[in-house]
Amino acid sequence: MKDTNCIFCKIANGDIPSNTVYEDEDFRVILDLNPASKGHALILPKEHAANLFELPEETAKKAIVLAKRIGAAMMETLGCTGLNLVQNNGASAGQTVLHFHLHLIPRYDGDSAMVQWEPHTSDPEEQARLAELIGKAVR
Ligand code: AMP
Ligand code: ZN
Repeated sequence: MKDTNCIFCKIANGDIPSNTVYEDEDFRVILDLNPASKGHALILPKEHAANLFELPEETAKKAIVLAKRIGAAMMETLGCTGLNLVQNNGASAGQTVLHFHLHLIPRYDGDSAMVQWEPHTSDPEEQARLAELIGKAVR
């Protein structure tokens, strides 16, 4: 189902033009309007899902397989030496467009794309507790 107010629905379904890298029946892959690095692309499912949790499992599987294919094409053509996959869910995680999308961010030696987090030290007891807490809730 398309969400008529959703900009990525419109782009994914061709109602708004985009720089399209790839298209098939399930996805459109476009270049990001404000790229973190040269070639930064977004995998957009054509069906609306607000985030990872709303995305059908089959589409999620296909998105990762497609990321591998597009990423390989980037590595072959752009001169990048690495690739980050980034996928934000929720405002606290930096999601600004509420239609699932998977970022493919080509990386270049010495580039300034900031997709690193600050590592913190961990408490072993807390880590053990968290592992059990999350693990028990996996369905
Ligand atoms: P996120 O912060 O994960 O929700 O990412 C949204 C991304 O969409 C950002 O990197 C934006 O630059 C990009 N974006 C927003 N509007 C457009 C658009 N019309 N065409 C291409 N990319 C867009
Ligand atoms: Zn949408």
